[in-house]
This record gives sequence, structure tokens and C-alpha cells, in this order.
Amino acid sequence: MASTVNNPFFARSTLPYQLPPFASISDEHYRPAFLQGMTEQLAEVGAITHTADAPTFENTLVALERSGQTLSRVAEVFFNKSSSDSSYFTNDLEEELAPLLAAHADAMRLDPALYARIAALHAQRSDLELNAESLYLLDRYFTEFTLAGAGLSDDDKQSLRDFNSRLSTLTTRFEKNLLADTNELALVIDDVAELDGLTDGEISAAAEAARERQLDGKYLISLVLPTSHPYLASLTNRGVRERLLAASRARGIRSDDAGAASDNRPLVIEITHLRAQRARLLGFDSHAAYVTADETAKTPGAVWDLLGRLAPAAARNASVEQADLQAVIDAEGGGFELAAWDWAFYTEKVRRAKYDVDTAAMRPYFELGSVLANGVFYAAHQLYGLTFTARPDLVGWHPESRVFEVTTEDGSALGLYIGDFYTRDSKRGGAWMNALVAQSTLLGTETTVVCNNLNVSKPAAGQPTLLTYDQVTTLFHEFGHALHGLLARATYPKFSGTNVYRDFVEFPSQVNEMWMLWPEVLANYARHYQTGEAMPQQLVDRIQASSAFNEGFLTSEYLAAALLDQAWHRIDADTTVTDVARFEADALASVGLDNPAVPTRYASTYFAHTFSGGYDAGYYSYIWSEVLDADTVEWFKENGGLTRANGDRFRDRLLGVGGTTDPLEAYRHWRGRDAELQPLLDRRGLN
Ligand SMILES: [Zn+2]
Repeated sequence: MASTVNNPFFARSTLPYQLPPFASISDEHYRPAFLQGMTEQLAEVGAITHTADAPTFENTLVALERSGQTLSRVAEVFFNKSSSDSSYFTNDLEEELAPLLAAHADAMRLDPALYARIAALHAQRSDLELNAESLYLLDRYFTEFTLAGAGLSDDDKQSLRDFNSRLSTLTTRFEKNLLADTNELALVIDDVAELDGLTDGEISAAAEAARERQLDGKYLISLVLPTSHPYLASLTNRGVRERLLAASRARGIRSDDAGAASDNRPLVIEITHLRAQRARLLGFDSHAAYVTADETAKTPGAVWDLLGRLAPAAARNASVEQADLQAVIDAEGGGFELAAWDWAFYTEKVRRAKYDVDTAAMRPYFELGSVLANGVFYAAHQLYGLTFTARPDLVGWHPESRVFEVTTEDGSALGLYIGDFYTRDSKRGGAWMNALVAQSTLLGTETTVVCNNLNVSKPAAGQPTLLTYDQVTTLFHEFGHALHGLLARATYPKFSGTNVYRDFVEFPSQVNEMWMLWPEVLANYARHYQTGEAMPQQLVDRIQASSAFNEGFLTSEYLAAALLDQAWHRIDADTTVTDVARFEADALASVGLDNPAVPTRYASTYFAHTFSGGYDAGYYSYIWSEVLDADTVEWFKENGGLTRANGDRFRDRLLGVGGTTDPLEAYRHWRGRDAELQPLLDRRGLN
């Protein structure tokens, strides 16, 4: 068993910035490191509870914060890999580990001796002379343990453990089914003529993707996570568009002869039922009530109020847009009624006709390398004085992941940024940020390693990577999370980087999107990949003019998904849903978001955010934090925009705070008042 001796997870990495030693990590290392890591942490917690000494902040909270370092090391690397470069091995291990990790978390959070110590400290918190961050840490532990069920009877705790274990197995299976179906249902095209409208680069990428699956001479369109596929905007063949959308929407609903292997419907029903039962056990009416109690929203009613206030206006705006699109079809003598698979295609036509904006014409100005270095990094340099230097000598988890060193103005090091931008069969859909090494003064880790994953189709060999408008937005967005992770300063690992409330965490990343079209930034990165010419000012002006265009559709499809997520999690423990499609249709109809031409951004059976991604009863978070985002963008605009002074203020009062304080207090400190709703209504045309 050489692996237990030479396991790279058993000690801190000695590479720069504690970058995990990817070159020496292999599959055999994960399982023993997880098992050892859990055993170690339980022993560390045992040492806290078995002492005869009275509880102190130091011997309980600080000791807890120091515990579990082996487990953190392996978990951060493994879950990064299982998301970004999975294999049969990681899928199986993830499914095996899910109940073990859930039981491990329960063993700590449901430990009566540990809870008694935390509760005792919490009761005397005002006499402990703690600084603000330490006091907040105590408060967070007490709240989280209480909500996790630490105060329940032994019998109820056993029921809770059973719920948690079963749920972790089901949500892992949901994710696995979704990845399987996403690959399985990728669209195979026989005749290149059917791909009319795609660029040469996209067509050769489709040919290459088919070759990789031994489908030589054919073309393969990979599916992406939301319902809408980017190619729906350009494919001229209506039948192909219909097939592509149908494939996207068919994920998780196939009950084939092989025993319904990837049918997510029974999982959705069981997951939501178990979550409702667990919420009742913990004293809440619904899972949504349980979740929002520990968010800035506080109640499902507050969430419903905001979403319900926006939905009618969004649906109305979408109907107006729909009429515009139908008018184009009729003027062309199309002779058909606009369907969901036509929306993006005719939207592009109207965009061209009404605003003279052709988003495809922008792509030559959005070459990945330039967007990254001269756009994303440049804006961070102007605002926060950061410099990014490629470190090709440092190895990431995949040959396509690229490592950059991040330094501040005075040359001191902040950490590493790793970008992994291309899509592959082994990567889950969507885009995200995660940390491989978290900053914490307590643990002596002053620098961090943060990562961004995107799903950009790889160009054919020798061709440049030209991003779509949406992909550029996504890159700025995910990089906003990365900045939050890089700039936050915390004593305790619990508060490092982006460890903030889920309905707050999207706020800094959304704010970072504003720099994409900021004139000074855009002029710096949006250059034609062949001629080097700047994007014509006219094109820029038109993009700005059309920025509210199609917002009815976009807001509606998002709100539909957010409300669907809430609906699934507002059911009580006595309700048993039997028909997923019916439940979904009823939920959408009840809020007027059931226009068949505007499908929900995710349907239940491929709604990874809510059934496997940790956004259960929390998909509302995006628009919730967009209220803060829009209010903040207005502040930047009123105060001179892209300046070091503005960046410093945002860094000092908001990004740099990480999770160390109540986020709405941090917001007030940054903005000088609570956020107002009006800027969001203006931005989305919802007045
Ligand atoms: Zn985000």
C-alpha cells in the first residue's frame, strides 16, 4: 500500500502558493486521503470535547477552525477534478463518498458535547471580549449548528442523518444522470448543409467532436446546460433547431429499456419530499423556509415578493418581443407560429434590423487571449492594481488549465489564478469559480489559489478562440468571483474568500460584468484578431443601445426557473408530488410564466443548481444579489467609474471583507445606505 505512505494529500504542498502537486496526484490517492482526513478530523473534534477544561473560544472555536486540514486539501482537489475533468473513477468515488461525507459532517454538527460547548460560549458571548470577526464566528457556528439539528433529540438526530445520507446519494445520482444524458443526447448531424448558419470554425469543431466519438464524416453538436443552446441563434434550418432544443429539454426524462438509467424524475420527487420532511423535523414549514432563514432574504415570503413583483412585467415584455419576432416571420412569408426554437434566431434578425447589431460580427473582436489579458486582467489592474503573469512552469489539473501568478502594486503576492476555459465531455456544464487553497491568517496561509471554469467550444487546430458576447460576459462574471477570492482577508478559514451567504455571493461577480463594455476596457481588449483594429465605435454604441433588448425573454426564463425552484421547495412534508411535468406546468402557470415560446431556463430534470448544485431554494439568489449589483453599478457610474480610488473603496469595504461580517452591513458601509430596487427595474426594463 505505497499510496498510504506517499500520499501527496498528507502534507501541505511545497509548491509555490501551496498549489496542489497535480503531477504527483493520481486516482489511487483520493480514497485513502478522504478516509484519513475524516478520521483525523473526528479525532481533532474528540480532543475538543473530551477535555476537562471549560469551553473557551480558543479551545473550542479556534480548535475547530484548525481541524480537518487533510480533508480540506483532498476535497478541494477532488471536487475540482470531478467537476472539471471527471472520469468513471471520479464519478464512482463521488457517489461512494457522498453519504460518507454527509455522515462525517453530521458526526460533527450533531455532536451533543460539541454543541453544548458552542452554546455555552454563545450564551456568554458579550463577556468574552472577542473582536468583531471572532464574535461573528461564534455567532455563525451557533446558528449553523442549531439549524443543522444539533439541538434535536437522539431519535430525531438519527432521522436527520438518514435524510442527509439519502439526499446526498440522490443528488449525486442526479448530477451523474445529467452528465450522461448531456453526452448521450448530443445532436448528430449527417449532412453539413444542415449546419447552415454556423461559422466555419464551429462546423469544423462539430466535425472534430464527431470524430472523437468515432462518427467520422458526421457532425456533433454538444449540449450545454441551460435550455437555450447558443447555436439556436444562428442555425438557419428550422428542423435542426427544433431537434437541438428538443434534445436539450429531453435530459433526465428518458426511461429507456435499460431500466430508466438516466431518469431524473423519480429523483426530483424523492429529493423534494425528503427535503420537506427534513425541514419539518428542524421546525420549519418547508425546505424554502429552512434555507432562507440562514440567508440575507430570511423568509420565502420575501423571495416570493421580489420574484412576484418582477414576473408580470417580465412576461408582458416577453409578449411584446414575441409580437416583434412574429412580425418578422410574417413579413418573410414564413407561414408559421413562432416556437421556442425560433426565438433566438429571430431575435438576432430583429437585433440586426432594429439596432443594426450583429452579435456574430463581434466575435472576431473577442479573441480569448485578448479578452483575458487586455480586458479582464486589465480592468483588475486599473481598479485594484493587480498584475497577472503567466506561470507555464506550474502545472494545473488538465493540460488546458493555465496558471497565472497574481501580484499587487508593491509586488507582493496574492496567489494564483487558474483558468480552464474549454468544454470537454469530462466537464460538467456551465461556468464556475472555486478555490483550491483558501486564505486564512490562522492557518498561516496568506495567499490563495482560485480557479475559473468555462465551457467554450474548442476551435479547430490552428484557429483562434473567438468568444461570443455571452461568453465574454461569463468570463468577466466568473472572474469577479475569483477577485473576491483573491482579495478577501480573513483570520478564520470559515470566512475566507467567497464563503458568504449564497444570496449574496453573486453580487461581486455581477458587478464585475460592468467592466466588459466600459469604454476604456473595451477599447483595450476588443481588437480584431486578424487586423488588430479596435471594434468600431458604431458597433459599441449599438450594443449599448440594444442592451435592454430581449430582456423580457431573459428575465422571464430566469424568473420561471427561480420560481420553479421555490415552488418545489415550498411544498410541505405531507405533500407527495407524483407527476413532475404536471407540477412544473402548474407552478409556471400560477405565476403567468407559462408562455410555450419562452421555456424555463432549466426544467426540473436538468436543473442542476437546485437538485445537485447547492442552490436548492436558492436560485432566486441571482436576481436578489442583482438588486445590490445594479445599485452598485450606479455608484461607480456616478463616481468616475474605473479608478484606483473606486477600486480601493470597493476592495476595502466589500471584496476584502470576505465572510468576516454580516454582508448587508458591509454593503451599507460600502454604499452608505441599503440597496434600492429602482436601478434593477431600470436595467431590465421592468418599470
Ligand atoms: Zn456566479
